[in-house]
Amino acid sequence: MSNHISFFKSVEDYVDKAASFTDIPRGLIEQIKACNLVLQIRFPVQIGNDYEVIEAYRVQHSHHRLPTKGGIRYAESVDQDEVMALAALMSYKCALVDVPFGGAKGGIRINPGKYTVDQLQNITRRYTAELVKKNFIGPGIDVPAPDYGTGPREMAWILDTYQALRHGEVDSIACVTGKPVTQNGIRGRAEATGRGVFYGLRECVSYEEDMQKIGLTKGIAGKTMVVQGLGNVGSNTALISQKEGGVKIIGISEREGSIFDANGIDVEQLLAFRKEHGTIIGYPGSTHIGGPLTALELECDILVPAALENQITTENADRIKAKIIAEAANGPVTADADTILRKKGVLILPDFYINAGGVTVSYFEWLKNLSHHRFGRLENRFQHNAFGRLLDKVVELTGREVSERDREILTRGGNEVELVNSGLEDTMITAYQQVRETLKMHPEIPDIRTAAFVCSLKKIAGDYISMGIFP
Ligand code: NAD
Repeated sequence: MSNHISFFKSVEDYVDKAASFTDIPRGLIEQIKACNLVLQIRFPVQIGNDYEVIEAYRVQHSHHRLPTKGGIRYAESVDQDEVMALAALMSYKCALVDVPFGGAKGGIRINPGKYTVDQLQNITRRYTAELVKKNFIGPGIDVPAPDYGTGPREMAWILDTYQALRHGEVDSIACVTGKPVTQNGIRGRAEATGRGVFYGLRECVSYEEDMQKIGLTKGIAGKTMVVQGLGNVGSNTALISQKEGGVKIIGISEREGSIFDANGIDVEQLLAFRKEHGTIIGYPGSTHIGGPLTALELECDILVPAALENQITTENADRIKAKIIAEAANGPVTADADTILRKKGVLILPDFYINAGGVTVSYFEWLKNLSHHRFGRLENRFQHNAFGRLLDKVVELTGREVSERDREILTRGGNEVELVNSGLEDTMITAYQQVRETLKMHPEIPDIRTAAFVCSLKKIAGDYISMGIFP
């Protein structure tokens, strides 16, 4: 195994700790923790004049709800332990945010940067064919999505391969989510995880008494933030927090190193700079402060690790100065580091809550695909006309006119992206309130992560009990 700390074991430890605050029978906890199906695949792909044997996985952690759901990761860190841990986190994540799926995850052990687009396409299509062969993919079976190293392009290849092999299946477009909008994807999915991180953070900092405890004022505007990893999740978290929340991004880290600017970094401009120069180092106004881990130690209100697992360990936990850590990546804080940070009073928003925006909007995409129509298509014009009639009546009764601009704003029906974002916002707020309520009702529960696991465990246990599997 590539990680000397077993990621899966650390998820199990968290679950065991949370289980001790519930009265769920031990046998049921063991069933909830276990990975139900593990597929390990090796297949050859032609690379240049030779063949390479590719190592890949798909893990379905829990079948208490179907289909199972979870992203596909392309990274050199991929091994069975990592995919099992990520699949398990998906089960707890889906339960926490009331997305009716079991957890799953896939991974291919490659560095995608080393392959051409054609080679990546071959690898992705062959992987999908293996999943089809083993019945590990399908709208009612197991539905992949993007994760580290993959995006809409890979999802489009997966869909096309699936449809070629399962020709005529009426719901086939729901076999994968995170697809390009033009390929039956949904508006708002690309930025959903980062947007969800923002909504979760904004809700967390909105409680005065909670903020007082960690020496912060209430409200998101003006908070300082440091982000590790400018990929899908990190860049969208930073962009949306800056644009919609008035957050000041003072530090950013990428593979090539960390930069700092006390006056704030314009994320949009930095992304354009990196695209042009291939690095964040040298961005005007910023200081190069060290390697990829250095930014994690900056003094800030909110730290957002959004790259990979095991970034904050016993080695650097003592030097972390952030007041809040939002685990946008999965597993960025090891269990030992978590203990050190909690002793220091750091508020940690756990991965399976704070990055749940992706799977939430994937759920909306799956619903859209199964219903074969775009959200808002039926009601948009109806709402517009109904609001218009209401406004006409108000104008008639009051004798006061409204401007054309106001009329446009007041009578507009919701379009797809607005409906998606509103569903996402509601999901992130509701889940945080559930966790916070659990903490308040059970003061013996030590932290937010444990309280969130308690919420998930109770819901999954409830499913098993109502199935009649456990008394
Ligand atoms: P991504 O591939 O789009 O981006 C990851 C970024 O991290 C890349 O830009 C990469 O260069 C950078 N990076 C790699 N090593 C680094 C290091 N040591 N220091 C700083 N930066 C580094 O991946 P993503 O989809 O944004 O996923 C990031 C994390 O978020 C993963 O843990 C993933 O499991 C989790 N996540 C992703 C989604 C999603 O919808 N994509 C949903 C939930 C959770």
